[in-house]
Amino acid sequence: MVFLKNKTALITGSTSGIGLGIANQMASEGYDILLNGFGNSAEIEKIKSELFEKYGIKIFYVNADLTKKNDIKYLVEEGLNYFGHIDVLVNNAGTQYTAPVEEFPDDKWELILNLNLSSAFYLIKEVMPYMQKNNWGRIINIASVHGLVASAHKAAYVAAKHGLLGLTKVVALETAKTNITCNAICPGWVYTPLVEKQIQNRVDSGEGTFEKLKKDLVSEKQPSEEFVSVEQIGKLCLYLADESTTQLRGAAIPVDGAWTIQ
Ligand code: NAD
Repeated sequence: MVFLKNKTALITGSTSGIGLGIANQMASEGYDILLNGFGNSAEIEKIKSELFEKYGIKIFYVNADLTKKNDIKYLVEEGLNYFGHIDVLVNNAGTQYTAPVEEFPDDKWELILNLNLSSAFYLIKEVMPYMQKNNWGRIINIASVHGLVASAHKAAYVAAKHGLLGLTKVVALETAKTNITCNAICPGWVYTPLVEKQIQNRVDSGEGTFEKLKKDLVSEKQPSEEFVSVEQIGKLCLYLADESTTQLRGAAIPVDGAWTIQ
């Protein structure tokens, strides 16, 4: 892989879970990181200093709530002021809520559509003119298996992730003759601190051992019976950002232990 010094990656929701995993992988290959996501200032300082100590890259954090259009503009403006360019945009921030459709709260529907779908649209819209000016860019949308298939009680999440794959295809078509590409990653169950905590809560309430409950959770959907790791998603982002992928356009790549091929 080419060592892309001085390229900047804006990774939304990179203060935790998958986004933080992507930030680590991209920093390890020399990308400067425009960090975003919620967290208290001590946590964010810790992430910044760890990334700097490990990889010696530049890191800039912008506190922007991506459900707000003005915050999205601010994030991109601040990032451009600091780095001068944004070369890779990873739309990763997302949230989840589960309930049957007739009980699904309107505010949760709106939040999930705003964060998991509309924020990607507004960010692409903001960043695209700069990528066009440089005639180079990589847009990577972190969708989900739920962009490809449905599960009960996830109306907003499934609708938003299916929409995100539609957006990915349109942007890929509109950029097809350029050095800008747009693709999506569709993870199955990814092992993040959030999942780890959910399992631990069930262990604490006496439902079984950690290893058994972990296996039960993943096995219900993933024939591999193994979680995806944040490192695996990060490495795929590195591949999609590479110079060699100019003909990989508009794809929705499942990383799901065979969940969606059944
Ligand atoms: P997470 O909760 O650990 O991280 C979400 C990140 O988004 C955090 O940094 C959080 O601060 C940030 N965020 C939340 N609301 C925000 C807002 N309004 N503005 C800005 N940032 C905000 O979640 P995760 O599991 O790492 O998920 C990341 C992405 O991967 C999501 O889009 C999710 O749908 C997708 N995904 C996750 C899994 C999984 O198993 N964990 C599977 C498939 C897809």
